[in-house]
Amino acid sequence: MKTIKAIRGMNDISPAEVSYWQLFEDTARSVLAAYGYQEMRPPIVERTELFQRSVGESTDIVEKEMYTFEDRSGDSLTLRPECTASCVRAAVEHGWLRGGGVRIWHIGPMFRYERPQKGRYRQFHQLDVEALGFPGPDVDAELILISARLWKRLGLKNIRLEINSLGARDAQAAYRQTLVDYFGAHREALDEDSLRRLGSNPLRILDSKNPELQALITDAPAPVDHLDAQSADHFEGLKRALREAGVAFEVNKRLVRGLDYYTGTVFEWLTDELGAQNAVCGGGRYDGLIEEIGGPATPATGFALGIERLVELLKVQQVVPMEASPHAYLVAVGDRAGQLALALAERIRDQSPGLRLLVDAGKGSFKAKLKRADRSSARFALIIGDSEAEAGTVGVKDLRSNHPQTTIAQTEIGGFFHQQVLN
Ligand code: ATP
Ligand code: MG
Repeated sequence: MKTIKAIRGMNDISPAEVSYWQLFEDTARSVLAAYGYQEMRPPIVERTELFQRSVGESTDIVEKEMYTFEDRSGDSLTLRPECTASCVRAAVEHGWLRGGGVRIWHIGPMFRYERPQKGRYRQFHQLDVEALGFPGPDVDAELILISARLWKRLGLKNIRLEINSLGARDAQAAYRQTLVDYFGAHREALDEDSLRRLGSNPLRILDSKNPELQALITDAPAPVDHLDAQSADHFEGLKRALREAGVAFEVNKRLVRGLDYYTGTVFEWLTDELGAQNAVCGGGRYDGLIEEIGGPATPATGFALGIERLVELLKVQQVVPMEASPHAYLVAVGDRAGQLALALAERIRDQSPGLRLLVDAGKGSFKAKLKRADRSSARFALIIGDSEAEAGTVGVKDLRSNHPQTTIAQTEIGGFFHQQVLN
């Protein structure tokens, strides 16, 4: 029969690879707790309208990348392509903004119908960090410091920071006209997407990946040169805070990001070690979004980090996650011992919380069982035969040394492991 394969661009994370993900997730949890951020878990599916209104109608995501479908009652739903919209929707819906600001984070899968390639998938995972209700550049800086601390804790190097400011909404409108005039004068050089966006959303043209447009984009008027006074102040404040904290950055005047809701600060963390998909993490301020989706006017800022790319970087930089191989592998030989094995393993787990104990399963000779113990990468084999079962003891063999096998009382196993592997 024909086998069934996973959907293109949607990956399994194998047991062999999951330790990288766990290393990242554990580190992220711990770093975010250190800054007082709290986890939240929104659903993966939302009303399509939420993304149309927040991400923006004339973005790549909404125009051509969303997994949208009608459910059985005819509502248009979408697998989330990003998570800020959901966080904001939840905060408004549940009144989280009433008590001042909230600092939240979420880790989970996102879905975009992109062309799958290295570092670009159709189901991918993000860490999403959002601070809602804080106007100042101090919180923009805090988000950048959180990501910087993540790199440090993970032992990652050579990730550089680019920042830019897009200005407040009103200033953006005036700048927009400047941009339309500029690109309008070069119509013949624009591609189909850019021509369309000239009318709907000219800022998007700056984000075009088309190599033939890059020279034109480089010479285009930059948002950061057309800032309103308040945004300019804010941007200076951010730069000051970063210098104060010793975080190196570069101002990239062309940095605009792929979603419409950004105002003011935007930033990206980039690496030269992953090939074309070089953005590990990106974010910025979105002061207009909460009001736009029906909430109270509230300043907000956040970032999203691509976990697949980060895991790849961990591998490239040879950051080795902690071994998760079992501490011990229990082998039973003989009928009586076989009957007791599971119950004995339960008692050992009672005695030794944290111990990773694998119980041998399946048929085979003693030799075959020991071979399985060895292959499990466990440090110790625990061996119980009928005579050990009778005597209430267990044989202990250090599989990673030449020490002779020893025998200890079953009641002593907890103490033994505490001394050997758990302290
Ligand atoms: P890119 O410019 O690489 O398409 P983006 O600007 O679309 O990225 P964001 O929407 O800002 O990305 O998402 C934040 C991060 O999520 C990115 O920096 C990247 O690490 C990751 N990411 C985005 N799209 C994908 C994808 N299709 N597959 C894997 N990771 C992704
Ligand atoms: Mg993209």
